[in-house]
This record gives sequence, structure tokens and C-alpha cells, in this order.
Amino acid sequence: MTSASPAASAPVDVPSAAPRGVRAPELPSTLVFAHSDAAVADALAQTLAELGLHRPLFALGRASRNLLGRSLVIDCGAQLECATLETSGATLEEVDRLQHVALKEKADVIISCGGGQTLDVGKYGAARALLPFFAIPTQASHDGICSPVAVLRGAGDSINSYGARAPAALFVPVHVISRAPRRTLVSGMADLAANLIAVEDWRWAHRVRGEPYDDYAALLAQSAARLLIGRRHLFARERPFAAEDVESLVHGLVLSGLAMALAGSSRPCSGPEHLISHAFDALELGTGSHGEQVGVGSVLASRLYGAELEQVVELLRSIGAPTTPRAIGISFEDAVRALKITHLVRPERHTLLSTAVTADPEFVIDLAHNSWLDSDASASEGK
Ligand SMILES: [Zn+2]
Repeated sequence: MTSASPAASAPVDVPSAAPRGVRAPELPSTLVFAHSDAAVADALAQTLAELGLHRPLFALGRASRNLLGRSLVIDCGAQLECATLETSGATLEEVDRLQHVALKEKADVIISCGGGQTLDVGKYGAARALLPFFAIPTQASHDGICSPVAVLRGAGDSINSYGARAPAALFVPVHVISRAPRRTLVSGMADLAANLIAVEDWRWAHRVRGEPYDDYAALLAQSAARLLIGRRHLFARERPFAAEDVESLVHGLVLSGLAMALAGSSRPCSGPEHLISHAFDALELGTGSHGEQVGVGSVLASRLYGAELEQVVELLRSIGAPTTPRAIGISFEDAVRALKITHLVRPERHTLLSTAVTADPEFVIDLAHNSWLDSDASASEGK
């Protein structure tokens, strides 16, 4: 880089309005990857001080209180007025409770430490209370760790996605996430890999239905998935994950959150494979986690597009993720029942799959036979 002349560095008039084609999305400003409890506490204290925040309210999941929460609250409580609330489940009722406590305690920031449900309660509670939100995820089981979307159960047990705020600050305790059960990491990897399908489908929706598309968000979501998919030949279902695997996963999930914040929706990371997962949820089928369900959906959805997406299925097999409905306790017949309502679970989201369900249901059922039953056969051959 050449050195600038004094004239070049002098202030210039900058128009206050952004030119056409330029936007200013809301993006988080602090991202810390920490490798010990003390490092998380130090980074948190420093960020609170820098932002002039003095009265944090910690929302803690039951398990995370023992994993990391207790030491955080003790360290933080030595310097600041801290309040804590143990949350249980991702429900609108819990969000109301959090908001009530935040008001009573005069909190000026909400800090969620826990799994996805604890983060979703904090994320939406902070958005409603107009407070900044910090996240300390203790699991990497899905890409909600820094997304601006909260999935919550409401009245009548209905589950909905709510627009919330991405965390202003994200502290990732890599040492805690690495110790979580393998199943949580496999779930996160399956959720991350699905970005390739979601982006491909987003392009289709843009081309065929004129849906708004965001090049940068798409590139970020794809790159995030490729961090992991590029390592697929290194995995084996019996082999424990290496530290680099966990880091690739966490980096990918964080970038996915950023892609969603850029796009202003979950679209870069959620396509037809997510609609299948939502349909399993709506019918209360099986025992799979979100990421496992998305993986099963990906095996079918990947067949709707080009051969490159076979990489997603290769990754799922290499890490030992479930690839058939049966592997997560869902019969083939029930899975087909779920497929038939994919166009209803999020009617505003138009995917190639949900469009095919209404236009040519037989094609979709054939697809289910070819992907999920074939997958069953190849899984049993591999044993
Ligand atoms: Zn997901």
C-alpha cells in the first residue's frame, strides 16, 4: 500500500444517504472465541465496560448454570449488579417472564448462556425489552447461535419463528462446546451443511418467483458450509472430532448467523430441508433434534438440484448423521405424511419442494422412495 499524501487524508464531503444498492444491516460488533471459563469472564467484563453496561441479567439454562454460568455470574458479580434467571424451554411464556424480571431488576443488557432454547428466549426477550443482547452458546447443535431469529412455542403449542436481534456480542466457549455430546456436534454439522441446499433453492425462488436475493448473504452462507464440507473426507463415524473440526463448525455457524443478519431472514440457511424438519415438528414425529431432522430432509432435498449437492449427503454419512426418517424414529409412511404438508408449515416460504408438493405430489413421493428408502438400503449395506 502506498502512503497517502496529507491532501488525500483530508476530510471530504460524504453524502449522508447511502447510494442505491448499498444497505446498512444490523450486524453484531463483538465476537470472541474463548478456550477457558476465565477467558470468557474476562472478555465479557471488558465488553460490558466498553459499552457502559452495568446491570446484566443472565438467562441461564439449567445445565449451563453448572457448565459455565456459575463462574460467570460470580466473576461478574464481584464488579457489577448482576441478576440471574433460570429459563426452561423456548416458550413465549418464558420470554414474558424474562421481560418481567429485566424490568424489575432494571437490567441494561440480557446475557443468555446455554443451549439454543435459552438463547432464543434471551434473544427475543431482549428485542421486546429494547435491550442489547449478548450470547454465550454452550452447544453448537444448530445455527441459531448468532442469528436474528428465535424459534418459540406459543399458545396452543404452535411453534413459530420470530424476528429478533442478532447478539451485539457473541462469546463462544470452544472448550465447553467441544465437551458437549457428539450428537450435538453432528446436529450442528448437519444444519450447517444444509446451507448449500438452502442457497441453491433461494436462487431458484429468485429466478422463478422473483423472490429478493442477496449475493453477499448467499456467498457467506455457502462459504460457511464449505468450511466443513471441505473436511468431509477426514471424518469417520467412530472417530472423535478433532479441535479443528469443532472450530470449523463453530466458525461456520457464526458466519451463517451473519448471513441471516445480512439477508434479514433465515433464507440463506433454510430451504426445503428445513420445511421437512418443520413438518416433522408440526406432526410431532420422531426423536430427532433440529439438525438431525434437517439432515434427513437434506438427503431428499439435495436430489432436486445439481450433483454438487451430493457433497452434503457425503458429509452426513461421514459423520454418522441420521439419513433416513427411520433412523430418527419416523416411519416412511409418517415421513410422507409430513412431506405432503411442507407447503403449509411456512406458507410464505416458496421452495422448489413445497411447490412440487402442490404441482406434482406423485413426483415428491417417488423422490421419497428413491432417497429415503435407497438410503436405508445403503446404510444397512455399510454395516
Ligand atoms: Zn436450522
